[in-house]
Formats: sequence, C-alpha cells, structure tokens
Amino acid sequence: MPRERLYLFDTTLRDGAQTNGVDFTLADKLAIARMLDDLGIDYVEAGYPGANPTDTNFFAEKRPLRARLTAFGMTRRPGRSVSNDPGLVALLDAQADAICFVAKAWDYHVRVALETTEDEMLASIRDSVRSAIAKGREVLLDCEHFFDGYKAKPAYALACAKAAYDEGARWVVLCDTNGGTLAHEVEKIVGEVCKAIPGDHVGIHAHNDTEQAVANSFAAVRAGARQIQGALNGLGERCGNANLVSIIPTLKLKPEFSQHFDIGVPDEKLQTLAHVSHTLDEMLNRAPDRHAPYVGESAFATKAGIHASAIMKEPATYEHVAPETVGNRRKLLVSDQSGRSNVLAELERIGLSVDKDDPRVIRLLDEVKDREAIGYAYEAADASFELLARRMLGKVPHYFEVEKFDVNVEHRVNAKGERATVSQAVVKIKVGDDTLISVSEGIGPVNALDLALRKDLGKYQSFITGLELTDYRVRILNAGTEAVTRVLIESADESGEHWTTIGVSPNIIDASFQALMDSIIYKLVKSGAPA
Ligand SMILES: [Zn+2]
Repeated sequence: MPRERLYLFDTTLRDGAQTNGVDFTLADKLAIARMLDDLGIDYVEAGYPGANPTDTNFFAEKRPLRARLTAFGMTRRPGRSVSNDPGLVALLDAQADAICFVAKAWDYHVRVALETTEDEMLASIRDSVRSAIAKGREVLLDCEHFFDGYKAKPAYALACAKAAYDEGARWVVLCDTNGGTLAHEVEKIVGEVCKAIPGDHVGIHAHNDTEQAVANSFAAVRAGARQIQGALNGLGERCGNANLVSIIPTLKLKPEFSQHFDIGVPDEKLQTLAHVSHTLDEMLNRAPDRHAPYVGESAFATKAGIHASAIMKEPATYEHVAPETVGNRRKLLVSDQSGRSNVLAELERIGLSVDKDDPRVIRLLDEVKDREAIGYAYEAADASFELLARRMLGKVPHYFEVEKFDVNVEHRVNAKGERATVSQAVVKIKVGDDTLISVSEGIGPVNALDLALRKDLGKYQSFITGLELTDYRVRILNAGTEAVTRVLIESADESGEHWTTIGVSPNIIDASFQALMDSIIYKLVKSGAPA
C-alpha cells in the first residue's frame, strides 16, 4: 500500500526562540537551520523578519537549504492596505521560500485584542495570502487559538481557515495556542475541519500546557492533518511546543504511523537524533534532560538487577524500540540496587572482558555499594564508574600525582572602592621525575583549581588540550550523621564525547578536586596516553 507523505515543520527558531532564557544569535540560528535541514525537516521557520535585528538579518540574504525556509509574520493590519503596512511589506521582501502568516481564529480575540470585525479579519487573510502568492512564496496560515475559537464559534474559525485555503494557501495550520485542548477534542475538531479542507492541506501546531502536545499532534494526524509543527526538545513559550525529538522517532518506528506515512527524515538521520537534541542543549548551555523520551541518558537505562539480567538475554523484554535506532544506547545502571549482571554488562560495554565468576566483579560491586552508602552516585557518573572498574582490574596507569594543592579566596575592596573576590590555586604535581608547580586565578575557587590542574601536566599536556568542563553540579547530602557535598562534573572533548565524574567529601573543594581528577584521568585513558 503506498504511504502518504507527512510533512514536518520546525519552529525552534521562531516559537522556540520565545522560550524563557533562550536568545539565539544569528550564528546559532544558521547552525540550527543547517542541522534541521540535514536531519530532513521539510520546513524551517527561522524567525519574524522586522521584529528584531537578528531575524531581519537572517532573511536579508538567501540561505541555501534543501528545506523550505519560512518567514513568520502577521497578516495585514486591519484598516490598512497591503502596501500601506510596513510590517507586511518587509515580510514579503524577506528572502524566504515560504511565508507563515498568523491570524486570529477566535472571534473573542478579534473583538478584544484586534478591535476589529470578523469580516475585516477575513479580508486581511485573503489579501495577505494573495499578495504572498503573487510574490512567488508558498503560503501557510497559522490559525491562532483555532481550537478555542472553534469551540466558541465554529463558523468563524472555519471561515478563517477556508479563506486562506480558497485563496491558495498551501497549508492551513490549526494552532492550540493556549495549549489547553485535550487529545480527543483535537481529533474531533480536526476531523470536522478536514471535511471542509482536504487533510493534506491541514497542519497542527500544539502547545504543551497539559503535557499533551505530542499526543495532540498525533491525534490531528489520525483525524487527517498532514503537517506537524513542533520544536526540537519541545522548546517554546511557557511549557513549550510539541517536541519533534519525540514525534520523529514515533512516526518512524511505530507501525501505526510508519506503515501509513513517510517523512523526510531517513533512517540513517534518525540515528543522529540524540546528537541533534544534545547539540541544541549545548548551544543553549543547558544540561540535557536525562529522562527525555528516546534521547535522554536514562531513556534506555535499567536499574533493578532482575530487569538487567533479562535485558542481557533479550533487550526487547524491557525496551519499546532499539536504542541505536535513535542514536542512544542501552545503559545498565550500576548502583546499590544492582546485581552482578549490571556490573558485568557495564564492563562489557566499556570493553573490559572479565569472567563472570571473577572475584573482582563482586569486589567491584561491594566497592560501589560502600561508596554509594557515603554519597557517591555512579549511575550519574559513568566515567568515574569506568575508572573505578579499570582500577580494580589494574588498568589505569599511574600518570601523575598531585603532591599538594592550595586554594585561596581573597575578598577585598579594590582601588575603585568596589568589593571584589579573587580566587587563586597553586598545584604541585609530580610527573615521573619532574615536579611541576602551576598557579592560576579563577572566577571561583573550583575554577582556579581546575585551571591550575590542567595548566601543566608535562608530557601529558597534549592529551588533555581538547578537554573542557561543560557542567558543574553541587548537592549537599545528609549521609549518616554528617552533611556531605556531592559534586558532579560533566566534561567534553574535541571528539564531542561527554562524560560525567563525581566527587564526595564534607569539603566542597575536595569533592570538586576528586571529580576534576577523575575527568582528567578519564581523558588520559580515553586518549591512550602512555603510562
Ligand atoms: Zn506557538
């Protein structure tokens, strides 16, 4: 049976750019647009020309992409002609393949927000669509508040959609702008719209305010819609947009959809999905959501020993799809709840072959349990676990020794009379027969210590040049009777690999030192630095 084409429209750079705390530069936008294009997204909505300098610059020149580059903007203002509306003129001049207009499909908004009439809104839709088509653009109309509007006054909401479609708009997109519509309502209303407008001209734009944006998108497809709008990692105002990172694999891997629809994302690109998702987090300087479906670090993680032994026999027992299909990996958590099978599986993944009856396996498990009792958490620190295992097997060379370090924080009033805090670290390291002393200043004591530690490792320096710290997290725990500090440090290197290390101590500097040391030694092991 021939499959129908389903189109994906990404609004990470427009709706997603409205996320609290997100501020894309032009370079970010170009990089993300290329990444979306490479993934196989059909439409990349890159911004709102005229609304801010970044978006205006983005659309000032042609950006060669395979995807249809889309500019967003309002239909002509009520009471004006097209040529008399500078915002619309700028939008029509933008170097874009497609224009996505937004218009109000809820009569209440027309009266209260726009202070105009329904007829004038409909005329504005028709005039705007016509003028964009005359400019050679493909046209989409986002019907804002469509579902609330349809519930209040179906004839008007439908008239908005119809006006755009009849005028030649390629897509009429039904937006759940407030994000409060439920899946069964979406399915019912989209079904009704598809009686008036063919489904292959209908799109869905769902917000996540009831955590149903993804489900609502699928409900719309079931009812006939053939375009899904969404954003990477569900970025977007308030609770976000429908998450394309969850939608794409579901469409490709679940027979309910994959048997009936084709999308522009090929199988080999699906395998880059976890990387795409993490790259965006990286650009936004956010730690990836460990529990994100499909791509999160915990998405295919198993903790309990009984599950782990079943997974080793047959992964399908506890996995709804194979992790490799989306570029993720199976992870058997090594923690105090885990049995020998988890440890064996982790050792196998790391590439350390050990006989299952080797007494060192039990010793490693005991060590993990003892350490977790005092605050370590190895399931969150894969690299520290790997070092622990390698040490137990005698496979970590003695690269260098930190003979001592000294961290100093000085608070003083500077020459301008301002209060200033300066941190300085001194580290004394022994590499072979050489003693190296490094001094660094940092924005805080941990930063100073990190800089001093990595400043001069003698003959090992060239192995750690690509190492950088990407995240630093601190938690105060109550282990037993005393409070201890747990530090988790995430590092990355030039290959793009990320790893996490851990330190636990009553002293935050000491905990940080342990985690920093593990990160450096892990990098040396990974780079094959000679003993
Ligand atoms: Zn939106």
